[in-house]
Amino acid sequence: MALLKPDEYLSSVLKIDPQALVARGFVALLLDVDNTLVPRGTAAIPSEVRTWVARCTSCGLRLCLLSNNWHKVVFHYAEELKLPLVYKAMKPLPFAFLRALGKIGQKPRHAVVVGDQLMTDVLGAHLCGGMHAILVQPQSHIDLKHTLLLRKIERAFMGDLQPRE
Ligand SMILES: [Mg+2]
Repeated sequence: MALLKPDEYLSSVLKIDPQALVARGFVALLLDVDNTLVPRGTAAIPSEVRTWVARCTSCGLRLCLLSNNWHKVVFHYAEELKLPLVYKAMKPLPFAFLRALGKIGQKPRHAVVVGDQLMTDVLGAHLCGGMHAILVQPQSHIDLKHTLLLRKIERAFMGDLQPRE
């Protein structure tokens, strides 16, 4: 199903070259948090991720965090990264994607969604104005129970698709 097919599949956000995205005409990045930027089970944003976020910003990309999480920690991450946040997003529903784009004043056709889940991040990106969806491998094996269940379904959709290193 095309809606559930990532436009790109990478091993980590660090493999995303912000300059290449800008060269392709993208100006906005909507970023999932848990297991995309921050591995679950750790309490800190990895320093490489901070550096990558800074690189994205200095390339002129507008970033917004977009998380289904609503716990205190997600506010803390947003504050640390100095990025706008849309929390309790209920991805894949399109409302929060549109809210996030509104916060940074961008249109879906210029936006890239980055996340570690097909059923929330990729599906939501495609449902919301056909945004470009980059799937990354989850940064930890630890996850919420229902997410682990979803991952089994994701595997069925993805077949033997492997991330680009
Ligand atoms: Mg996630």
